[in-house]
Amino acid sequence: MRWKATVLTLFPEMYPGPLGLSLAGKALAEGAWELETIDIRDFAQDKHRSVDDTPAGGGPGMVMRADIGAAAIDAARKNAPAGTATIYLSPRGTPLTQAGVEMLAHGPGVILLCGRFEGIDQRVLDAREIEEVSIGDYVLSGGDLAAHVVMDACVRLLPGVVGNAGTHDEESFASGLLEYPHYTRPREFEGHIIPEVLLSGDHEKIAQWRREQAEALTRTRRPDLWEKWNRR
Ligand code: SAM
Repeated sequence: MRWKATVLTLFPEMYPGPLGLSLAGKALAEGAWELETIDIRDFAQDKHRSVDDTPAGGGPGMVMRADIGAAAIDAARKNAPAGTATIYLSPRGTPLTQAGVEMLAHGPGVILLCGRFEGIDQRVLDAREIEEVSIGDYVLSGGDLAAHVVMDACVRLLPGVVGNAGTHDEESFASGLLEYPHYTRPREFEGHIIPEVLLSGDHEKIAQWRREQAEALTRTRRPDLWEKWNRR
């Protein structure tokens, strides 16, 4: 069964967008994964196809309606493989991590609900038991770019999508450390030369150097990850 992403959006024309290019695009064209978009406006009940209304209690902006959101989610769930996770992209959500991405990529797929305006009526999240996931501590104008991020991170982990699966093992976050720096030809660039050890052909020394670099980078740039690494 192929991995399936279903996106609930007010802007279906944003898909596949960048996911139609490069590795994800090739995998999509070859059927390694499937993308379905559902236009939330198709579930609107008035002739203007409106999906939002003013916030209860007053205040700025508009709120996506629970009844319309629920109808869209129910339609998506009908066509999704059993066990598919449903996620509402939200700055209030649990931060997306590589471990979370791996869990999603190993499952049958994901339903991604993209918010707009001030977000969606809380009751639909409660009634449909929807997990909220954030892609970072900043506010986007809509959930669509976040949905692209989630899909991109998942699709590249699907079998056969990235040529050399070993690539993933040493990547930042997979091991718990940030990845070591990379170099390629030319040997010298504007007076900077490739570290000698990488040209030595001594695989043990190269592995040790990369490990030291990964540790040093993690310690200085991400003390939070470094602390976790030392507690493991
Ligand atoms: N009023 C909301 C708040 O302060 O938490 C922000 C709403 S934002 C303008 C509109 C939509 O963008 C959200 O419903 C959500 O779907 C999406 N969004 C914004 N920032 C996001 C983030 N960091 N991660 C995931 N989705 C985000």
